[in-house]
Amino acid sequence: MQRFEYRRERTMEAAASVARSALTAPGAAPGKDSTPARNSAQFIAGGTNMTDYMTLNVVQPHMLIDLNHVPERYKQIESNDRFLRLGALVKMAQAEDDPIIGKRYPVIQQALMLAASRQIRNMASLGGNVLQRTRCEYFRETSWPCNKRAPGAGCAALDGLNREHAVLGTSDKCIATYPGDLAQALIALDAVIETIGGTSGPRRLPFAALHRLPGNSPHLETALTPGELITFIEVPAGPWTRRSRYVKVRDRQSYQFALTSAAVALQLDGDTVSEARIALGGVATVPWRAHEAEAVLKGKVLNEGTAGKAAEVAFAGAQPRTYNAFKVPIGKQTLVRALLETQAMRV
Ligand SMILES: Cc1cc2nc3c(=O)[nH]c(=O)nc-3n(C[C@H](O)[C@H](O)[C@H](O)COP(=O)(O)OP(=O)(O)OC[C@H]3O[C@@H](n4cnc5c(N)ncnc54)[C@H](O)[C@@H]3O)c2cc1C
Ligand code: SF4
Repeated sequence: MQRFEYRRERTMEAAASVARSALTAPGAAPGKDSTPARNSAQFIAGGTNMTDYMTLNVVQPHMLIDLNHVPERYKQIESNDRFLRLGALVKMAQAEDDPIIGKRYPVIQQALMLAASRQIRNMASLGGNVLQRTRCEYFRETSWPCNKRAPGAGCAALDGLNREHAVLGTSDKCIATYPGDLAQALIALDAVIETIGGTSGPRRLPFAALHRLPGNSPHLETALTPGELITFIEVPAGPWTRRSRYVKVRDRQSYQFALTSAAVALQLDGDTVSEARIALGGVATVPWRAHEAEAVLKGKVLNEGTAGKAAEVAFAGAQPRTYNAFKVPIGKQTLVRALLETQAMRV
């Protein structure tokens, strides 16, 4: 691991300002977004993802800016009849234990509880969680060619061991899976993020606009500009948030990333679907909202048949490779199960 400077800042504004100044420091090599390639300065919240990739030499920041000493409001959860507002520095375990989230936004609670281990969730923040990077083994091992780590180098996963890789949102440059769980719950519920320190000043943007498809530039992962910080995540309340659920399928039942997952929120009139929100995880390069599948269900009676049709539509564009074709049938079954279990909830 290379040497780096460690900084603590007392405000989010100061942290963003230090990151921006570091962009022009001698030896700095900032990227075009906030993705921690060889950028000169990077933030850490829980540090569980950043330090992992630093020890593997996948990222080599010259400066780490610790966000943990900023004011309490960024570590707090606020809720009312209109929204749930989460500070970016709220710990995953803190959100998972929140009784309002458990009652009114169960899909968020379940996505958190099924992620990583309780020890990691005690450390890890919500902002850091949604920005965690792919677990593609060729990305993590620097001796392999990887367009995400080294643009233009090629992609070892295309014809390699791609069992864990994505089938939706892929390109011929990168098929890495977006690894997190919480993001699926947030995108399904139309969350919004607030940021400071970006090139256009403080802003709000839909969570759905945060992650970028790999396309020809898999090294650019988010819409954040270098030095831009997430401050809050806001989730609008709606009649569907209480009837919501996260189903995750993985190789072992704990401490494991998703092979497939589905976040579902439903508003029902009897058994008829007035509103459906669906997101898929473990199968796509970014948190994946399945709008076409939602449209199939709207106004229909929800049963195994209509849930199955929605699942067919959700995976219609899937492009499996040699070892990950099994994700298509399992992904469909995961979505059917999530829909029927959400329907059966007593709210
Ligand atoms: C063995 C193992 C299993 C795991 N399993 C799962 C799993 O099943 N599901 C899952 O979701 N996760 C899983 N994880 C990942 C874990 O949840 C993440 O490491 C953690 O959520 C990251 O949060 P953090 O606060 O520690 O992030 P950090 O490491 O502090 O930061 C991550 C990234 O976000 C940036 N960042 C942090 N906060 C901000 C902010 N406010 N604004 C802008 N940028 C910011 C950092 O600069 C860095 O680039 C697993 C991890 C391990 C090691
Ligand atoms: S799938 Fe993406 S992250 Fe993995 S080796 Fe290919 S380019 Fe790199």
